[in-house]
Amino acid sequence: MLTAIVGVNWGDEGKGRMVDLLSERYDVICRYQGGNNAGHTVVNDKGKFILNLLPSGILREGTVNVMGGGMVIDLEHLCGEIRALHEKGVAVMPDNLKISDKAFICLPYHKTQDILEEERLGDKKYGSTRRGIAPAYGDKYMKKGLRMGDLVDERSLSDKLSNIVGWKNLTLTGYGSHTEALTDILRWLTEYGKALTPFITDTTEYLQSAVRNEKKILFEAQLGSLRDIDYGIYPYTTSSQTLAAYAPIGAGIPGVKLDGVIGVMKAYSSCVGEGPFAVELFGDEADALREAGAEYGAATGRPRRVGAFDVPASRYGIEVQGADKLALTKLDVLSYLDRIPVCAAYEIDGVRCERFPTGDRLVRAKPVYEYLDGFMTDISKCRTPEDLPDAALRYIRFIENAVGCPIKYVSVGAGRDDYLVLE
Ligand code: GDP
Ligand code: MG
Repeated sequence: MLTAIVGVNWGDEGKGRMVDLLSERYDVICRYQGGNNAGHTVVNDKGKFILNLLPSGILREGTVNVMGGGMVIDLEHLCGEIRALHEKGVAVMPDNLKISDKAFICLPYHKTQDILEEERLGDKKYGSTRRGIAPAYGDKYMKKGLRMGDLVDERSLSDKLSNIVGWKNLTLTGYGSHTEALTDILRWLTEYGKALTPFITDTTEYLQSAVRNEKKILFEAQLGSLRDIDYGIYPYTTSSQTLAAYAPIGAGIPGVKLDGVIGVMKAYSSCVGEGPFAVELFGDEADALREAGAEYGAATGRPRRVGAFDVPASRYGIEVQGADKLALTKLDVLSYLDRIPVCAAYEIDGVRCERFPTGDRLVRAKPVYEYLDGFMTDISKCRTPEDLPDAALRYIRFIENAVGCPIKYVSVGAGRDDYLVLE
């Protein structure tokens, strides 16, 4: 069984909590793209964790966790994340973590370049997490970088790097920044690389053998459909493929086909960073929703932009993910509203539009709202559909019908067991 858990919206839908919940049924959990710009929150019997690079299955004993070749990895950050888990009593060892030899290394100068570029852009900035992700992916495609497998042979590391550093310094000089010294980067690579070398694996060989042995594999995406580099709100996207179709490629087994795709979708909208966001609320309404949902970035602490559930965006998000079932998260957050707005369609240049548009049409899109009755009760203790008030069920069924994909799971709290299953 090969299943992907992916985001349907702009990210932060609650993928981490769904992976933590469903990992019980799987043997192997793989992150397949992105870097430490991710913030996946997990709340379970071991405590509260915010995972940036490690797959959320790392908290589930008995699973093997894979960081795939589609990822970019900041070695220092990963060492810190592993250390923090050790301190909380979670074992991260070569038998439960495998890092692909093909994963790309995010170097300190990628972070520098990210910050320099956001500052150069001023009020036109992309809203980057400033963790070097875009420059790292850029260099990957320019073929000017190192991969985890390069750490294994220290002798050739210096040779490979000297050429690349010379090239990178041309860019840094252009920004008027200090240049990088080869020796500093080598020292950083040696210091953090040594601790990670035991985890480096040919994940293609490992996963192919897992497939042959009929192991159950779960793929965990970062961000959501609308941040995919190709299908999202370019250029306000991330720099990797957030879609389920990329999961086998980014993890290490490009030849396999997924058996299922679970789209994680929030009961309202949130968006961290810049870019068009038609349903954005402002003022008191926004503050109330942001507070109710504790919408502050898990990786950065930034206040998230918030708005009503967006039907055209979510329907498109589900379509490009190829999701066959959905997890609707954070429904409990809406319990303070006496009527719940839903963006049923857009209006663009005076014409109603059901389909999620691209480019400037999206910038001009205005939400067309419909209002549903609020449920005005605490639903966080509901564990079956029968426990839910009628208005909450009507909201779920309205959304399900509007996006055209069955909702299987509904979460009503951040804890592992705060959810219910719909028939
Ligand atoms: P991810 O990046 O998709 O994994 O999502 P994040 O972890 O960035 O954001 C989801 C936030 O909502 C986290 O703080 C979760 O603990 C929290 N959360 C997840 N599910 C629920 C839910 O059903 N109700 C409430 N109130 N919070 C939830
Ligand atoms: Mg997040």
